[in-house]
Amino acid sequence: MKKNIAIIGYGGMGWWHGDYLKKSDVCNLLGVWDINPDRLVIARNEGINTYSSLEELLGDDRLDIVTVATPNDIHKELIIKVLESGKNAISEKPVTLCSEDLQEMFDASNRTGKLFTVHQNRRWDCDFLAMKQVYESGVLGEVFNIESRVHGSRGIPGDWRGMKQYGGGMMLDWGVHIIDQMLLMVPSKIKKVYCQFDHVTNYEVDDGFRLTLNFENGVRAYLEVGTSNFINLPRWYMQGENGTAVINDFSCEGKIVCVENWDEKDVVPVRTAAGLTKTMAPRKDDTIKTHEIPQITSDVHDFYRNVAKAVDGIESQLITHPQLMRVMKLMEACAKSDETGMPVDFE
Ligand code: NAD
Repeated sequence: MKKNIAIIGYGGMGWWHGDYLKKSDVCNLLGVWDINPDRLVIARNEGINTYSSLEELLGDDRLDIVTVATPNDIHKELIIKVLESGKNAISEKPVTLCSEDLQEMFDASNRTGKLFTVHQNRRWDCDFLAMKQVYESGVLGEVFNIESRVHGSRGIPGDWRGMKQYGGGMMLDWGVHIIDQMLLMVPSKIKKVYCQFDHVTNYEVDDGFRLTLNFENGVRAYLEVGTSNFINLPRWYMQGENGTAVINDFSCEGKIVCVENWDEKDVVPVRTAAGLTKTMAPRKDDTIKTHEIPQITSDVHDFYRNVAKAVDGIESQLITHPQLMRVMKLMEACAKSDETGMPVDFE
């Protein structure tokens, strides 16, 4: 049976949830609440019922699930209220600002026996799923380096995302997505974390970062969020002992190049200002083979399908509490590394 659902916070992302939930195959959207009356007018004009207060929403006994899509600093307070009103709760990412707050949210979920999860929707991005498949397929041989970058050139958005008190900053905004993806891709403990934050357009919060993770299984991952990149580097770059894979953008355009004949090292040297080099010359075509990037279809609305089934106890929730805590603690380790200028031991 379909689950009755409401949304708290009807801004950009609240609108996204509402647009989907109006036509969802697993949920009925009963209404939205936002502290800004203008947003309620917009919702009503779009044919969505609105609540007159948070209390009215929390008191609606028909509701099974509430999604919170407000600025980051008030996720914790609102999620705990939702759980204590006897409803299952979904928070937008980042779930909250620190691991102590996250533990309080888990405690509320355990105390009330209600499901609590987070909309980590970039687990359904086809670029991520394609690269995860490349990693798992073994086509590159032993993988030793994975680079994941997201680049923009418009600085940090000028809203609450630029302010610390609201939980702004690019680590919490985009970092939480690409860290979550990397931890899902590489099934290994992390030994060391080294991170540096950027402050090109904003000094209060980070407007980008560069992060290196050393996994116990030998993989090194490099993650980068930038908002002052007028030339984008590829979204993904992965190296194994037998090949290299690249995905250039969110549309999954890219390729995999593998060595066919490792011992055939004869190349045409390239000329540099200092003379000829064979070491840095490209391989001859007959010693390599190019493969396509796997084309993956995914449906981000499987998130809600999973939550609806998890509420009924038919499936386990996909975005789990231990995963959420691991990402949160890793972001805290990043802040410590940036502050001290040193790598930090992890796990
Ligand atoms: P936004 O500023 O566009 O919208 C936030 C809305 O929350 C506003 O309408 C505001 O009036 C309302 N609000 C603020 N305090 C409230 C309160 N106490 N009670 C009720 N409403 C309140 O921001 P946004 O871009 O929609 O981001 C909202 C959340 O969604 C953030 O946590 C953000 O990180 C997340 N987000 C996630 C994705 C994703 O891909 N998963 C994308 C964008 C944003």
